[in-house]
Amino acid sequence: MRERYYSRELSADTSSIIIPAVTGLAFLVCLVIVAFNPDWMEFWHFWIIVIFYPITSYTAWFQIQNDRIELGNAIFITTSILFITIIMAQTWHPTSPLPYLFAIFVIITSMTLRPEASFFVWGITSILSVLAAGYTVRPFDLNYIYTLLWPIIINFILALTAYLVAYEWRFAVESISELHRKVRYRRNELFEVQEELQHTNFILRSLNDEIDNARREAVEEKEIRTRFMNTVSHELRTPLNSIVNFAHILSQGVRGPLTDGQVDYLSRIQHSGWHLLSVLNDLLDMAQIEAGEFDLKYAPTNLHLVCEEAMNNTTGLQLDKNISVIRDYPEQWPMVKADPMRLQQAIINLLGNAFKYTREGFVCLRVRSDEQRVYITVEDSGIGIKEENISKIFEEFHQVDQNVARRRIGTGLGLSISKHLVERHGGSIQVESEFQKGSKFTITLPIFKGETLNGSQPTTIKLGTTNE
Ligand code: ADP
Repeated sequence: MRERYYSRELSADTSSIIIPAVTGLAFLVCLVIVAFNPDWMEFWHFWIIVIFYPITSYTAWFQIQNDRIELGNAIFITTSILFITIIMAQTWHPTSPLPYLFAIFVIITSMTLRPEASFFVWGITSILSVLAAGYTVRPFDLNYIYTLLWPIIINFILALTAYLVAYEWRFAVESISELHRKVRYRRNELFEVQEELQHTNFILRSLNDEIDNARREAVEEKEIRTRFMNTVSHELRTPLNSIVNFAHILSQGVRGPLTDGQVDYLSRIQHSGWHLLSVLNDLLDMAQIEAGEFDLKYAPTNLHLVCEEAMNNTTGLQLDKNISVIRDYPEQWPMVKADPMRLQQAIINLLGNAFKYTREGFVCLRVRSDEQRVYITVEDSGIGIKEENISKIFEEFHQVDQNVARRRIGTGLGLSISKHLVERHGGSIQVESEFQKGSKFTITLPIFKGETLNGSQPTTIKLGTTNE
């Protein structure tokens, strides 16, 4: 059932205004009457109103103020009807307007108690008015009583109207109050959400500050590391170049004849020097990549030349091992948009590893393509990689087996540099490997469709001699 908080409140407010107003008016009228008729014995019924009506009305008003609204209204309506009945019993005559006064309380009842209570009050007041009128007519005469029919009928019409109006009014008030309650509830919910949002915002802001600090520290740390690596690499490169070059000049016998032992030592110095230089180059590349200063110069590139040059650069690494070098090339070479030197560097890294980690068997460079992509695969029959290590080999400085890597000399940077280079070309590197059986690294690159091979001659790599 619909609760009537709001119409109850409104009923209390209405009664709080009506009770003093009606009481005050009745009090004043009765006071005037008794003032002009000093014989109080004859007008005792008006004195009753002057004295008791304010008291009973105050009691009713007090009850309403203390949230006993129904009791307060009932007291006020009952005492009012009682006082009118007393006056009527003393003063009634056929033209008296007193019975119409009951209509006021019929209406007040429907407004402040319940809409349907107006009929009850109408019934009671009708009986009371008949009784009061009957009391005044001596000897009793029914014709006089008939004159009450009009006020009773009119009061009934007013009771009906008051009932309908009060019913509609109550319904409207309750609907509005229901709506109001919902709005209030939603508003409270919104306040709660707002508070939560503020709290979350506060947490987010402090988290953001922490992240900012951490980022700043990380950037500073990275900058210091990059600067350090740059400086060290540059400082080492110059003397290393001198060592390698002078060793080469000496080994040519420019400064006089050399024994076989001296030539052997000089070529070892040269070999180690070159290796050190390539390690330094890797470190420098990595430092540049991390600093975000690694610039590539893209151009439509002939992949055939890039692959051939990479092969020529690395086949010497097989040394005295029994490895067959296989070129598995396509009949039609696709064009790619690349920085030829850097793409070649990535392929050289893969081929270098293949030769490094293969004792015997084969190293194969295979190139295939489809509509969209070209696949450059370096396959070997070398030591392979355990499955659990495959995901780690692209990490910087990661070497699967430190001892093996040491024996074969490496920095653990080659694959991460290659990955970066290939990704900068819009491609990716995949690896498949079986431990002790071999590995397969595949570079996937998008095919360049802008220009044909004949339309441009951008690649500047010199084709070397093939090993096959
Ligand atoms: P490194 O300079 O040590 O070769 P890389 O980044 O090139 O560094 O390679 C990381 C690791 O991945 C190597 O240490 C090696 O363990 C493994 N790896 C790379 N290529 C091969 C391969 N063809 N066969 C077996 N292991 C390989």
